Amino acid sequence: MPRTDFHEDRIHDFFYKNGELYCDKIRVSKILKKTGTPAYIYSHKTFTEHLATLQKAFRSAKPLICYSVKANSNLAVLRALVKKGAGLDIVSGGELFRARKVKCLGKKTVYAGVGKTAEEIRAAIKARILLFNVESIPELEQINAIAKKMRKKVNVSLRINPNVDPHTHEYITTGRAETKFGIDFEKAREIFKDVKRFTNAQVSGIHVHIGSQIETGTPFVEAFQKILEFIDKLEGTGIKIKFLNLGGGLGAIYSDENPQTAEEFARKILPLFKKRKFQLIFEPGRFIAANSGILATQVIYVKETDVKKFAIVDAGMNDFIRPAFYGAFHHIWPVVKNEKAHGWVYDVVGPICESGDFFAKDRELLEMRAGDYLAIMTTGAYGFTMASNYNSRPRACEVMVKGTTFKVVRKRETYQDLIRGERA
Ligand code: PLP
Repeated sequence: MPRTDFHEDRIHDFFYKNGELYCDKIRVSKILKKTGTPAYIYSHKTFTEHLATLQKAFRSAKPLICYSVKANSNLAVLRALVKKGAGLDIVSGGELFRARKVKCLGKKTVYAGVGKTAEEIRAAIKARILLFNVESIPELEQINAIAKKMRKKVNVSLRINPNVDPHTHEYITTGRAETKFGIDFEKAREIFKDVKRFTNAQVSGIHVHIGSQIETGTPFVEAFQKILEFIDKLEGTGIKIKFLNLGGGLGAIYSDENPQTAEEFARKILPLFKKRKFQLIFEPGRFIAANSGILATQVIYVKETDVKKFAIVDAGMNDFIRPAFYGAFHHIWPVVKNEKAHGWVYDVVGPICESGDFFAKDRELLEMRAGDYLAIMTTGAYGFTMASNYNSRPRACEVMVKGTTFKVVRKRETYQDLIRGERA
């Protein structure tokens, strides 16, 4: 096992005992007997401990840690994290609705995204969120106009695009000039020159988020240094920056990566902010959620061709799209280990009519049979939240394990759910 943040030898609470996969204190096979498959299974302990490692690493700076709802938005997950002191980072009216459902305080909610609609902006103003992370001048004008109409004053951070390469997958790179995110330094400077015209959207913060699954501190430091230079110049002209939102992006361990730990990250970046008086904000998603969940699935058939052996499972790319979408690697573990089984090379594939519907290719795994359960590991982030009903497949259930108990925190969808709101 690679290194870890919170245990000596593990990064999550899924482990084997007597050949059985456990989540915390419960056998996964016991859960599956009740819920069926496919099923997302989350560890309450892993979720909250990953949050705790960040809180501990950054304690001296007293940041507001706003968990990024998009990574895993199940209410039970949000509630667990909010109860432990997290705020929430949202990107839509729907995520705001979820944040309110778990009673996340408005003053602990920040709102990003390039395409906030007027309706979403109104709802966020009503909810008295702490900050809008603004991504363009038209959006800033829109927020200002709506706030004025509502006779409210709102706080706004400008999301700066610092044009830094985070060295991650192209689709999760957000801090380079050619991406749609944020505002470049020149435009931001112009906004600040004329900032008084935004009478009801008070530009009091800077936001930066350069991408996701970033494994070293170097791109963060590069981006933050550029931002600090920019702020220094601004403050030279009398402008005060109250909030500095440093985004998310910390890498999680999927396989043999060796990303920085929370402690190392803090050690690397906190010196940059020494003697500064900003309220620091972070928006971690993947770092907290990825290793906190697995997707359990059952082998339906084992199919052999002249060139391949396929394990066809009952989860598909509609349930978990990362391998198809990003070519992402995820370990696949048997839920019950047969120590005597030989290793075979498999493609683990779903039932969907797309060649991209796979979870592993040419992977050596213990021999398996129809009926066996498998766990696709590290699927707690960008798993269920990216699931769809493609091929008219009801979405999987979600289960939260806490110590010796488990609870279905989202029911498996039914065929009726599939057609809700439709008319023939
Ligand atoms: N903040 C913003 C603005 C984002 O766009 C994202 C992810 O896309 C996050 C935070 C969370 O990123 P991560 O899950 O890599 O921590």
